Amino acid sequence: MTFTLAIVGRPNVGKSTLFNRLVGRKLALVDDQPGVTRDLREGDARLMDLRFTVIDTAGLEEVTDDSLQGRMRRLTERAVDMADICLFLIDGRVGVTPSDEVFADILRKRGATVILGVNKAEGKAGDAGAIEAWGLGLGEPVRLSAEHGEGMEDLYHILRPHA
Ligand code: GDP
Ligand code: MG
Repeated sequence: MTFTLAIVGRPNVGKSTLFNRLVGRKLALVDDQPGVTRDLREGDARLMDLRFTVIDTAGLEEVTDDSLQGRMRRLTERAVDMADICLFLIDGRVGVTPSDEVFADILRKRGATVILGVNKAEGKAGDAGAIEAWGLGLGEPVRLSAEHGEGMEDLYHILRPHA
């Protein structure tokens, strides 16, 4: 038994950085990967003894923070429907934005199983963002640094029961 994890959230929160860390390919080229569509990347993830499928929602980089286009919404909904669990990332250095609130609503309306990740939280960065994240009403946030590999053990313990 395994599961599929979709990494969702607005552009620039670190979704692809985390995807690459979990898949273990620093220079993951979209064309090299099987199961790739234009906007969704799929990979075989590994986190300690866990093996699972991970989906990165890409192709939204042109969407500005305070606009949520239909395409962004549809793409997220597609990823949510493909996944057993969604890892919803926010940027802990920026805190909760209006765009993050819209994503939280999408996930709630879709009835998704959500893990709330506060990324870019290396060291003490993201402390305030992690507190703010409680306000999204999605439970206890997990502090992560996709770039520096912090919080991976916490993520492991949260994902483990789903394996
Ligand atoms: P995406 O648009 O959500 O896929 O975000 P990316 O993975 O492309 O990352 C956006 C930017 O945030 C890049 O410049 C990354 O290097 C940076 N970034 C990603 N994760 C972290 C992190 O944990 N800490 C810090 N400080 N920067 C990060
Ligand atoms: Mg990306």
